[in-house]
Amino acid sequence: MKNRRNAIVTGSTSGIGLGIAEALAADGMNVMLNGFGEADEIERARSDLASKHGVEALYSGADMTRPDEIRSMVEEVEGELGSVDVLVNNAGIQHVSPIEDFPPEKWDAIIAINLSSSFHTIRAALPGMKSRKWGRIINLASAHALVASPFKSAYVSAKHGLLGLTKTIALEAAEYGVTVNAICPGYVKTPLVEKQIPDTAKARGISEEEVIREVLLAAQPTKEFVTTEQLGALAVFLCSDAAASINGAALPVDGGWIAQ
Ligand code: NAD
Repeated sequence: MKNRRNAIVTGSTSGIGLGIAEALAADGMNVMLNGFGEADEIERARSDLASKHGVEALYSGADMTRPDEIRSMVEEVEGELGSVDVLVNNAGIQHVSPIEDFPPEKWDAIIAINLSSSFHTIRAALPGMKSRKWGRIINLASAHALVASPFKSAYVSAKHGLLGLTKTIALEAAEYGVTVNAICPGYVKTPLVEKQIPDTAKARGISEEEVIREVLLAAQPTKEFVTTEQLGALAVFLCSDAAASINGAALPVDGGWIAQ
């Protein structure tokens, strides 16, 4: 039987979010896409999801730095599709720089998008989940929610904070059939990672090839990037009834990075 639940995936016009939206739609869920990008590319992604998987696919351009736009997006899904059953907090940005040179406005943007947006989405979507006694909240944290790397002060702080939020809401929602978990990926080759390669090269004084070999994949014992398909499959599992007892967990998908 087709899964007719409704999911919001923030930051799903690219990379991991798009991969998770695709996996949830393939599992039969209706999906609200969100994020920035070229209007025609986003429309193509939206209509492809709907036609390929026979689901409803919506798009919201809500800016995850704007609490009012976040609430409107949640209300739009509740109005158009009836409920928000699955919430995937995935939108995120990165900036790599020593703290002395770290622009304060980049700190503010990373905290807003990578941490505070999840406070606002959960705040808006959780009451409906609790009233229906079923919900799944999946926060895209990072290996950087569990360990640090130099030159990523805002990102590491936001992701550690997101893990704290995950555990807290897991406790608040536990008796209502709602689980809250964090997926903690290692490196996935998306635009977010591709963009930080030149900055990391500059900050460490090494070439871009050395960044891939000696910084990115050096951390990952498998020496392989994690894939969006692997993360999508885990999100689908977390939404299943088999995962009902996984709650408040940080699930590393990092090729063994944090085992070291
Ligand atoms: P990406 O750059 O490919 O995608 C980011 C998405 O967020 C895009 O859809 C973008 O439009 C959206 N976005 C950015 N700012 C936004 C805003 N203000 N409002 C709404 N949407 C906004 O990045 P990705 O690699 O797919 O990262 C997705 C998530 O996974 C992030 O939270 C990131 O921290 C996390 N993550 C990524 C990696 C990796 O190696 N790529 C590893 C661990 C965790």
